[in-house]
Amino acid sequence: MASESGNSQQSRHQEVGHKSLLQSDALYQYILETSVYPREPEPMKELREITAKHPWNIMTTSADEGQFLNMLLKLINAKNTMEIGVYTGYSLLATALALPDDGKILAMDINRENYEIGLPLIEKAGVAHKIDFREGPALPVLDLLVEDEKNHGSFDFVFVDADKDNYLNYHRRLLELVKVGGVIAYDNTLWNGSVVAPPDAPLRKYVRYYRDFVLELNKALATDPRIEICQLPVGDGVTLCRRIK
Ligand code: SAM
Ligand code: CA
Repeated sequence: MASESGNSQQSRHQEVGHKSLLQSDALYQYILETSVYPREPEPMKELREITAKHPWNIMTTSADEGQFLNMLLKLINAKNTMEIGVYTGYSLLATALALPDDGKILAMDINRENYEIGLPLIEKAGVAHKIDFREGPALPVLDLLVEDEKNHGSFDFVFVDADKDNYLNYHRRLLELVKVGGVIAYDNTLWNGSVVAPPDAPLRKYVRYYRDFVLELNKALATDPRIEICQLPVGDGVTLCRRIK
């Protein structure tokens, strides 16, 4: 019975064409080549190419997601923003380029070395003055910010892209720091597709480890009355949370 209703659900989705827009790698490549790469600012292209040679390049934000973030920030007129998890700075540069000249990004990462790989390109793009980089774990920085009431409701946008086992700890604090109407974007909420993998599926160790945290986050966001959400299949899945109270 359950599977029957599952099947009819599936065919209903197919009928209206939403089962999957991206049916192939070729379609993704088409998006990149048609709409993303030709419009990618030169410093972002250079940063993407340098990052591609780095051993941990799997961590970088994809070019289409960078374009999405850049557009989103402009749409919401973001000015005061935060990024947790910088790596070589692709999403940071996408953000910095979207903000007005007096815009700000509080950017945190435990690793300064990787940030410094991208820094010359951020400088070349003329946006380094918008960035306040803090080396170290993000949670204590958030705790300090929360302690001071003048920071409450002061951020327009936060991009969270670091240690997934802390996402819910970040969420508790960020809901105080982001303004009502502001947006928190959680990255990798489809976690390599593993959110729907059967329990015995062969997953890489780190994918399996963080999977339960991502599942827990997705559930918690879905029922949190303080936010409206929208989970998008961009990159590895990004969930936008708009604070409403
Ligand atoms: N947004 C980046 C980009 O566009 O390339 C990718 C970030 S990468 C997926 C995750 C980053 O989080 C790594 O650079 C890692 O050093 C950093 N990180 C891990 N734990 C952290 C923590 N507790 N606080 C701050 N950053 C952390
Ligand atoms: Ca990510």
